[in-house]
Amino acid sequence: MTSVVDAPAATSSSPARGLICRACGSEYPLAAQHACYECFGPLEVAYDEAALARVTRAQIEAGPQNIWRYAALLPAGQDPDARVTLDPGMTPLVSAPALAAAIGLEAPLWVKDDSQNPTHSFKDRVVSVALTAAKQLGFQRFSCASTGNLANSVAAHAARAGVPSIVFIPSDLEPGKIITTAVYGGDLVAIEGSYDDVNRLCSELVETDEFEDTAFVNVNVRPFYAEGSKTLGYEVAEQLGWRIPAQVVIPMASGELLTKVDKAFSELVEIGLAEAPEGGWTVFGAQSEGCNPIAVALHADTDVITPVKPTGIAKSLNIGDPAAGPYAIEAVRRTGGWMDYANDDEIRAGIRLLAETTGVFAETAGGTTVAVLKKLVESGKLDPTKETVVYNTGEGLKTLDAVAGQVGPTHTIKPSLRGAREAGLLG
Ligand SMILES: *Cc1c(COP(=O)(O)O)cnc(C)c1O
Ligand SMILES: [Zn+2]
Repeated sequence: MTSVVDAPAATSSSPARGLICRACGSEYPLAAQHACYECFGPLEVAYDEAALARVTRAQIEAGPQNIWRYAALLPAGQDPDARVTLDPGMTPLVSAPALAAAIGLEAPLWVKDDSQNPTHSFKDRVVSVALTAAKQLGFQRFSCASTGNLANSVAAHAARAGVPSIVFIPSDLEPGKIITTAVYGGDLVAIEGSYDDVNRLCSELVETDEFEDTAFVNVNVRPFYAEGSKTLGYEVAEQLGWRIPAQVVIPMASGELLTKVDKAFSELVEIGLAEAPEGGWTVFGAQSEGCNPIAVALHADTDVITPVKPTGIAKSLNIGDPAAGPYAIEAVRRTGGWMDYANDDEIRAGIRLLAETTGVFAETAGGTTVAVLKKLVESGKLDPTKETVVYNTGEGLKTLDAVAGQVGPTHTIKPSLRGAREAGLLG
């Protein structure tokens, strides 16, 4: 390790100054509140810009090899002892020349492989930030409405922290998501309905006296949760040597991750930590054909999202009424990007293509994103001469069924040379 000469002492106070309404700009103190009292718009964290501007590359580089190296840019977690965390982050940025060649990209292509987090999805980032804030706000129990990976991560974080958890999922999730959540021992409530039904019930539960002491990471502490996604922008820029890539392709469920990667890039440029590419960066969004309300709204040139009833194998992305959809559309339009969607066969092919060309085994969300990347190159929406990062947000072992019928042993033989010869393995 090189020694750090001018890193200031780690600051122990949060740079967050309050919550601000994304719709009307009303401001509120930092608290467990997610909707504006004036207009019911969604709230997000607002920062003291002078505090952000004091953050240096040296300070970040001297930090731990996880998301907390960016603590000075996050709303919570400045004090290491107060964190509720599995220390996610600093996942590999994998160079992907063979994938680039296969889909016709000439410029460097990278896969940000967030399946390498402790519970194997990017959700560990948002959960660590949300639950650290929740603990500080005095909550006694941890919860969420989940499409699978979020429940997995909340249950694991609660187990590590020794705090009770109760997580809510649609009952038709993949076994790989249910078992990896249930094993941590908290309450796991399977609901006979869609994610949107689960989310609606959680919004009702959070208002009851019995759930008064319960933090739902993506409901009452959602503004803090959403900020955790910024680390997927910071990290990519730092891993590229403090450069922002020209193009990023990001999967969308609520659309929040996409908006926060864009927000992270903007912050880094504003405070002088990273360079923007010539002409700025361009953000692309990926959905599945079975749940494509954000992409369809963009294609129809409107901001009004018409909710859908999700179908298809990309269950982790199956939010039919996506809360951050309009903001995702805004980011994609502002940066000159586009959105597209892939059907189940294309998603399976995307999983296999990524695996065969990079050694990364993605869940269906990653297959969706790779399939959409391919479409964007084919349609000319994505510039094949510009450096591109594609985000893999989840692990293939959790959605084995997606490819189970498609791949298997290429040969099955007797344990003998004769068997090998008969199978053509000896020429
Ligand atoms: C939740 C999730 C997403 C999308 O998250 P949003 O911020 O809701 O858009 C993407 N990929 C995976 C694997 C997820 O679990
Ligand atoms: Zn408002």
